[in-house]
Amino acid sequence: MTLLQDFPCDRKDQLTSRERFYYDLLPNINRQRPMILETDKEIIYEEMKRYQKEYNAINREKISDMRKEYRDTHKDQRREYEAINREQITERRRQYHIANKEVNNLKSREYRQANLEMLRERDRLRQRSKSENHVCECGGRYTTKTKTRHMNTRLHLSRSKPS
Ligand SMILES: [Zn+2]
Repeated sequence: MTLLQDFPCDRKDQLTSRERFYYDLLPNINRQRPMILETDKEIIYEEMKRYQKEYNAINREKISDMRKEYRDTHKDQRREYEAINREQITERRRQYHIANKEVNNLKSREYRQANLEMLRERDRLRQRSKSENHVCECGGRYTTKTKTRHMNTRLHLSRSKPS
């Protein structure tokens, strides 16, 4: 083997990838294709994962802003995609649910225990808001709980403008 470049590296996988780079650049330079060992692959994969995690942690806000903006600007596409792929989406959710059932149950049990007071207060507020009274544009009345029912009553439908 001819030394093409004195490549400074402290890791076998770095050396291998550089070797591979020259192999692809100049055919038949080595008789054997520089091999990437399974263990190297694992190391590379782990490193990529660690890098991704670090990047996400540092850029959390930026990423969340970008995702939000993307969601906002792609609402129609998303709706369309969901309409076309409804069955697959439902099936995927079902599979995910099955696969994560135990972990999720455990997590939510822990969460409930850690937040008992807050959850009780939230339930109280929810119960209260359910029985809040509203006056409808049709002149009728409903509570938050009975809103859907009211919207379908003959009284409401006959008096409100067709939308
Ligand atoms: Zn009404």
